[in-house]
Amino acid sequence: MGRSLLMIPGPIEFEPDVLLAMARKTDSHVAPDFIDCFGRVLRNLREIFRAPNGQPFVVAGSGTLAMEMAAANLIEAGDRVLLLNTGYFGDRYATMLDRYGAEVTQLRAAVGSAPSLDEVEAALDAGAYKAMVVTHVDTSTGVRTDAEALARLARERGILTIFDGVCATAGERFEQAAWGADIYLTASQKAIGVPPGLALLVASERALDAWRRRREPPRSLYLDWAEWLPVMEAYEAGRPSYFGTPPVNLIYALDVSLRHLLDEGMEAVWARHRRLAEAARAAWAALGLRSVAEPGHEANTLSALYYPDGVDSTMLKAVAEAGVILAGGLHPDIKTRYFRVGHMGALRANDVLATIGAVEQGLIAAGAAISAGDGLAAAQRQLATSKR
Ligand SMILES: *Cc1c(COP(=O)(O)O)cnc(C)c1O
Repeated sequence: MGRSLLMIPGPIEFEPDVLLAMARKTDSHVAPDFIDCFGRVLRNLREIFRAPNGQPFVVAGSGTLAMEMAAANLIEAGDRVLLLNTGYFGDRYATMLDRYGAEVTQLRAAVGSAPSLDEVEAALDAGAYKAMVVTHVDTSTGVRTDAEALARLARERGILTIFDGVCATAGERFEQAAWGADIYLTASQKAIGVPPGLALLVASERALDAWRRRREPPRSLYLDWAEWLPVMEAYEAGRPSYFGTPPVNLIYALDVSLRHLLDEGMEAVWARHRRLAEAARAAWAALGLRSVAEPGHEANTLSALYYPDGVDSTMLKAVAEAGVILAGGLHPDIKTRYFRVGHMGALRANDVLATIGAVEQGLIAAGAAISAGDGLAAAQRQLATSKR
């Protein structure tokens, strides 16, 4: 399996120089080289999140920890929160917000869809909410929400927004400052392109103000911005600091990956994700694979696809034998009926074509009535018409 392609919605394929950074000698967390690196990482995150005045936080943990850092610092018992639930990770945020004592109202969309802007607007006007929580791309359905419109609706009403970007950040356009989004959060192992282990979050000035106005400090010391803010500020100012030991090698790797993103340019990175996702979608349509996400809601970072009639998850074994690892279903309502293909990060057209070829082989092995090459031909045609 050494050379198989990992095409799941995280972890993904990582660039060799990112992986090499993981293998370097581990410096002290207060060594001058590491302080330089961490400071650069924080400045670069601001650029990638398009948040020139935002405050980045980088801590050891997974995406769930980034979700929890937002909840722990912004939400107090009794706070009213509107949650737009588009799948599995919306459910997770509901559970989490409940633990923090929030009064959560959920706008729950049918599987594959998202609440309409009219519905959201009506709910925001009716509810006196402190915050709205949105999953930018839900990894269980492949649904992308209209983050720009949602952020603007909330901002006009003075409601804080938390966007879970774990399956979107660096793969889908997000302009935190221009759109007025208060928290954008992600994890290293998805489109950011670094092995699992880092929780990344950028907070707006409004989010920090809301945290400063809390009645009580967050219960969790590890998540408290009061502990981490001086550390982040110190690293950016080139000074040593300590609260919890940072994952030194992961941050060196993050530095490499963020520089790749900025060298390519975020516009180009977002356009590449869209172009490759369109090629993948052309292939799925040509192969008769129906998307879980409804038209207009399909993410550019992954595809969630129903198995054709008579095909089940054993198809994924045949795809793996053809050299490509895909993911099974995650959404509890349809878990056994669909599979997922991640297409994010340092992806090239070749990776997408190899994946489509392997999916064709899997479908044929599972007895589906397709013609080998139909998906590939459709993807090639799509790539030829969408100039880079
Ligand atoms: C992957 C993911 C998470 C959870 O991230 P972990 O690193 O697995 O904790 C949260 N939200 C979304 C949208 C995700 O895709």
